[in-house]
Amino acid sequence: MSELNDLYQSVILDHNKRPRNRRKLPTATRVATGDNPTCGDQCTVYLRMEHANGAPDRIAEITFDGSGCAISQASASLMTTQLKGKTPEEAATTFSEFAEIVKTGKAPEDFTELAAFAGVHAFPARIKCATLAWHAALEALKQPDQSPGESAA
Ligand code: ZN
Repeated sequence: MSELNDLYQSVILDHNKRPRNRRKLPTATRVATGDNPTCGDQCTVYLRMEHANGAPDRIAEITFDGSGCAISQASASLMTTQLKGKTPEEAATTFSEFAEIVKTGKAPEDFTELAAFAGVHAFPARIKCATLAWHAALEALKQPDQSPGESAA
């Protein structure tokens, strides 16, 4: 079990050290920002949808930009790697899994990077840190597409 804890710990450290997809996305057609004033975390999510039969289908590209505590930034980085390629419905399901892990501390038996944040459940004030970027992403998924650039204004 402690080996598994080390593994999960290293997932968070790695996302902190080398955040994935941390940049603005000039081609983004949807942008949403989340704030967590109690901790001072801020996160903007940029995304571009892939279209199928003229309708938005899957997340083609997703990036984030922000500042704040290590948990919020590592979680944002992980979120982009987990949601890329997913439909809005699949993204919502993945978020539910993640939120469940963060709130209960119960990780699924199979290894999933999402479970790296299970330890957060012991610190209820940090749950908002861990879910900030995810809420912004879900918010962006509800928006209609805008012209690239327009949405970033
Ligand atoms: Zn925080």
